[in-house]
Amino acid sequence: MMRTHEAGTIRAEHADTEVTIAGWVAARRDHGGVVFFDLRDASGVVQVVVDPEQITDDDVHHIGREWVLQIIGTVRPRPAGTVNADLPTGEVEVAARTLTVLNRAEPPPFPLSERGDDVDEVLRLKHRYLDLRRPSMQRNLRMRSTVNAALRTAMIDRGFVEIETPMLIASTPEGARDFVVPSRLSPGEFYALPQSPQLFKQLLMVGGLDRYFQIARCLRDEDLRGNRQFEFMQYDMEMSFAGQADVMEVVAAAVSTAVETVTGAPLGTIAEVTWAEAMERYGSDKPDTRFGMELTDLADAVAGTEFKAFHAAAVKGICVPGAADSSRSTLDGLVDRAKGLGAAGLVWMRVKAGNELESPIAKFLSESERSGIVTALGAAAGDLVLIVAGERRRTNAVLGALRLDLGRPPVSEGGLVPLWVVDFPLFEALTDDGRPIPAHHPFTQPHVDDFGLLGATGEALLEVRSQAYDLVINGWELGSGSVRIHQPELQAQIFSMLGIDDETAQARFGFLLEAFRYGAPPHAGFAFGVDRLVALLAGEESIREVIAFPKTQSGADPLTGAPSPIDATQLRELGLTVKPRPT
Ligand code: ASP
Repeated sequence: MMRTHEAGTIRAEHADTEVTIAGWVAARRDHGGVVFFDLRDASGVVQVVVDPEQITDDDVHHIGREWVLQIIGTVRPRPAGTVNADLPTGEVEVAARTLTVLNRAEPPPFPLSERGDDVDEVLRLKHRYLDLRRPSMQRNLRMRSTVNAALRTAMIDRGFVEIETPMLIASTPEGARDFVVPSRLSPGEFYALPQSPQLFKQLLMVGGLDRYFQIARCLRDEDLRGNRQFEFMQYDMEMSFAGQADVMEVVAAAVSTAVETVTGAPLGTIAEVTWAEAMERYGSDKPDTRFGMELTDLADAVAGTEFKAFHAAAVKGICVPGAADSSRSTLDGLVDRAKGLGAAGLVWMRVKAGNELESPIAKFLSESERSGIVTALGAAAGDLVLIVAGERRRTNAVLGALRLDLGRPPVSEGGLVPLWVVDFPLFEALTDDGRPIPAHHPFTQPHVDDFGLLGATGEALLEVRSQAYDLVINGWELGSGSVRIHQPELQAQIFSMLGIDDETAQARFGFLLEAFRYGAPPHAGFAFGVDRLVALLAGEESIREVIAFPKTQSGADPLTGAPSPIDATQLRELGLTVKPRPT
């Protein structure tokens, strides 16, 4: 038997038992006499004491970090005063009777401490197999497996069928760039890797599967800013004869089950906010509601003011608690940041005793305007008030960004605070020639009350709401979904509004449109990022901490060397010639 016990499970109750354990040398203390090893396996570490006088078949003093050992020895209580209360095995040690070197190891290129924050990420990823030995990576990947299992159980319990959709497909319209795979059998033709299972899950609904789910790999060739990876795992679902409320109920239950399995407590009720309200109150479609500092409309407080900069479509402010003592250079930095975000300027006001405002523009405001601002924002002495005036969307966006800069707690603080954002606009913007650009994918149903607005043109189109909804946790967009269009006439109308002519529609989604001619049930669905959910649960700011083999920010894998050139034969078979990089 390789082992009778796992190292991290040995306790005082095992005293006087002979155990066989195996693992890596996590640490060694060698003072010339007995040698202490912390032996690590997946379950944790235990201290092993080796007396070189007794164990003579190997040179114990040569054994280094990360060597792989098997120890047969007796568990005994640690001598008084040497108990380590921080370690689950800290009351005991294993006195070795035999020591077998199962494998030697070169010294690791970086210390395998609890967290790897101090180690260069490229180095960590180049030796990810070592990095994975660190306790935080072990914990995160195990948590991930627990989350996946809980999501599966939750869905299967609700009658959902797990179905794998293909990886080599035609393009999916999620709005990102496709990763493409050249076809050897049809040179010059390409598969796209799925940006999501969207089209297939809709076909499954036409196919009568009724309730589908999958923990699906999705690939999007987009810039890797922030918490994005080229490939990511998505909990993906679709259901027939169902609408927004049904989908939200199932998704909430699945997320809650996963959260409860990991933390012991369910997620709790999920508050709901409309997109329009989220933009007004938080300046974001993914509000972090763990803290206040909400955007406050100051239009009434400054109505009729003589201060020209406040003669704007929107005048709004936030109150930063206790920040009145910010230095002048900090405040100048905030002004620059606001301008960088597109504001014409930023007004700051320090709230002094007696609610007096200290600000370069205070003298341009009347007494009642100043007190109106303080009252509207609920500001008190010691607070800092920041005001932006301008076009409404821009004003909201600038203040929303400043609110996050100044108030956002670390992701691990304050528990998980989820929020549904509903009634997203159908179109997010207009092209130069006035065509609407879809906010979600082009199969999203307009809001039931807004069908009448579909005939509008120009900016008015941006008022059309959709039946699309997002789930946000701690300010991260976890996922989104929508009620789909199942009526061919409506789909044709939306395509024509988007400027997708019949020919293009046929070429890109002809198979879906054709399927819809054969009795598509009303259906709706959702998808969320499993990487993000696990990162939130693990309290990690970066999803790379919960992915076994992630890519770097530049999309490279330092471990395998991907991406890399392919050889001439392979290129020839694929009918490809690589042009030299433009210089
Ligand atoms: N396919 C969508 C996405 O990946 C989610 C959905 O609408 O179900 O974002």
